[in-house]
Amino acid sequence: MPELPEVEVTRQGIDAPLRGARVQAVRLGKPLRWPLGCPRERLVGAEVGPVARRGKYLWLALSRADRPAGGLLMHLGMSGSLSLLTQPPAPGPHDHFDLVTDRGTLRLVDPRRFGAVVYAPALDRPPAAKLLARLGAEPFDTAFTAQHLHQALRRRRSPIKAVLLAGDVVVGAGNIYACEALHQAGIHPAARSDRISAPRAAALLAAVRATLARALALGGSTLRDFTDVHGASGAFQAEAAVYGREGLPCPRCGRPVRRRVQAGRSTYYCAGCQSR
Ligand SMILES: [Zn+2]
Repeated sequence: MPELPEVEVTRQGIDAPLRGARVQAVRLGKPLRWPLGCPRERLVGAEVGPVARRGKYLWLALSRADRPAGGLLMHLGMSGSLSLLTQPPAPGPHDHFDLVTDRGTLRLVDPRRFGAVVYAPALDRPPAAKLLARLGAEPFDTAFTAQHLHQALRRRRSPIKAVLLAGDVVVGAGNIYACEALHQAGIHPAARSDRISAPRAAALLAAVRATLARALALGGSTLRDFTDVHGASGAFQAEAAVYGREGLPCPRCGRPVRRRVQAGRSTYYCAGCQSR
């Protein structure tokens, strides 16, 4: 599943080339998770850009003669990837959306079709507003402080790992990043959210930021393009301390890494380094 680093690497890859591009046509393949929500013709002639990101959603702003003309909210789902093609081949069986512009064709490839491209008049209007309503803070938002995180964690009694995965406190801590950040911060994945102290919340926020920043750096540096749905996370996993390493020694203390299933997801942790 594309995680926040893949989505951000994608955003960085398409933002500059698409900025100012003129929409010439829209092609739809098989149905995605939600319908487009407007006639395709409404998009033709609009100018694209900038491309923003909120959680794992991308927002392609559209404008006409310097006035906003809504935008497209895009999600890569379980298996989606976007590429900007200057000479696009004929659409294949998994190519379900083409935004044809004078700067190239933005194509969504999505074999499992849990992805989506949805028109909205603005980010704070339906249907975009509803889709984004429950998202937590952006991890790199400097206005989101350790104190904010601590206050939010105090309102929840669930295990901290589940709170991170839910994404309604802070976005971006998918399974691999949640496991790694908790290990880095020395917090047991089953620790109750409301019992995490302020200093530990601060350590956790720093760890979430560090793990995502590392994945972004790997995604940006190791990928030739941004179409690999596991690019950044895959490169990051290769140097993970605990994720996917059950039975192998913890790089910090040498004890074997343990695995347990939490809310249907594998959690990897070190019982020596991580406490409740
Ligand atoms: Zn350890």
